[in-house]
Amino acid sequence: MTDQAHIEGWGRIPGPGVERFGENLDRLSEQPTLFRGLGRSYGDSSLPAASKPDVVNTTLADRVLAWDADTGVLRAEAGLSLYTMNRVFLPQGWFTPVSPGTQFVTLGGMVASDVHGKNHHVAGCFGQHVRALRMRVADGRVLEVTPTQHEDLFWATVGGMGWTGAILEVEVQLRAVSSPWIHQTTERVDNLADLVARLKEVSREWPMTMSWIDCLKRGKHMGRGIVYYGDWAKAEDAPAKFPPWSREITMPIDAPSWALNPLSMGLFNFGVYNSHVPKTKSGLVSPETFYYPLDMVRRWNRAYGLAGFTQYQCVIPDTAGIAAVVRFMEALTATGAASFLCVMKDCGPQGQGLLSFPMPGTSIAVDIPVKKDTAAIVAKLNALVIGVGGRIYLTKDRFTTPADFRAMEPRLDAFLEVRHRWDPERRFRSAQSVRMLGDPDLPGAA
Ligand SMILES: Cc1cc2nc3c(=O)[nH]c(=O)nc-3n(C[C@H](O)[C@H](O)[C@H](O)COP(=O)(O)OP(=O)(O)OC[C@H]3O[C@@H](n4cnc5c(N)ncnc54)[C@H](O)[C@@H]3O)c2cc1C
Repeated sequence: MTDQAHIEGWGRIPGPGVERFGENLDRLSEQPTLFRGLGRSYGDSSLPAASKPDVVNTTLADRVLAWDADTGVLRAEAGLSLYTMNRVFLPQGWFTPVSPGTQFVTLGGMVASDVHGKNHHVAGCFGQHVRALRMRVADGRVLEVTPTQHEDLFWATVGGMGWTGAILEVEVQLRAVSSPWIHQTTERVDNLADLVARLKEVSREWPMTMSWIDCLKRGKHMGRGIVYYGDWAKAEDAPAKFPPWSREITMPIDAPSWALNPLSMGLFNFGVYNSHVPKTKSGLVSPETFYYPLDMVRRWNRAYGLAGFTQYQCVIPDTAGIAAVVRFMEALTATGAASFLCVMKDCGPQGQGLLSFPMPGTSIAVDIPVKKDTAAIVAKLNALVIGVGGRIYLTKDRFTTPADFRAMEPRLDAFLEVRHRWDPERRFRSAQSVRMLGDPDLPGAA
């Protein structure tokens, strides 16, 4: 077992406390303690509360416990990373049923955030494919928790940000893929309304879709961008050889605060958009190119310097119409706060996780460098989202107030009721649950 004192969220928010690493999660969870994986949640989700500064890092507990190569059912310890899963199971013809935009996440983190991917409109969130969890709950018991056994706890834990107990093991149904290659098409679209409409259109025909948006551009080309869509290539259309794994480089230093400025980011966006010629391109790409372009530069979060950044991610419901997406993007662009990373995805039906993020609509995720006015900008964006019945994604959040969260989350009381049943003293808590749910944070609180 080793300890580490410096803890951060991916947006560089530093946390108080001590991170305990070890291979034996049963032993590490004997006292109810917040768990964390690879720390890819952007804000304070994986940081402990100041009153309980201990957090268990699961990444050394990454054993595969059972694997059925005929059915694709995997059972593993919660610290197994998607990076390892891809290297072990993709060569055997199996892939995660749902993938976020990075493979540096653990199984436990994927369940706790109920992650969604480019296929949400056809496959839902990760939790929908989970068959069982082995969990440590607040009274000390270790339980097998499934969609039919302790059902309330299961659906509160899926997307429940670690607030209902510690996930020790995960059993999940992987999906068979016909080849390890992806057939990708990309299309350049020169304004926002057309881009949103095109994203909806391709989502009706294709299982994997997303778009990148230039949200620094103003005027009639505001929201121009590139729509990506694809599917796993059929074996007969794919090369016989396995796609190469990407070489990784690491961002060596924290960028100085002036490096990301409107000029440098505008030039970057100009380059990405204008180098996309011809307007439509198709071809076979590796899953890493398709799913994880950001992973190619390790520690890319250093580009935002020590002040860090937040990712604002919300979903604008379909019921509000494309006009609401356009209004949101106009407001975002007008703040001048957005950086070069802005991604729009189509979301399908809401899942069963009591706090799961997606609902039918358009998800917008944008990186915002942290400055003095960031909290005010988030409040402004939240007001728009609340006004149209949307919500934000907890695993990205750092600034939303409890009042705003309650206003956008009609399922909150149902979640709190289940949590209270399993953990009345709120012993599993994080910096985020203190901030958003008002959990106790006095020194010595249980
Ligand atoms: C580049 C990038 C792209 C991303 N793209 C997407 C995307 O497309 N879709 C998406 O949904 N998300 C996306 N994310 C977010 C990411 O998938 C989630 O934050 C995920 O939870 C991170 O996993 P982790 O192992 O790093 O968890 P951490 O960040 O360490 O923890 C996240 C939460 O899970 C809890 N937790 C972790 N392990 C356990 C456990 N064993 N038991 C109980 N609770 C636990 C923590 O307490 C915390 O609340 C992206 C993040 C990055 C950095």
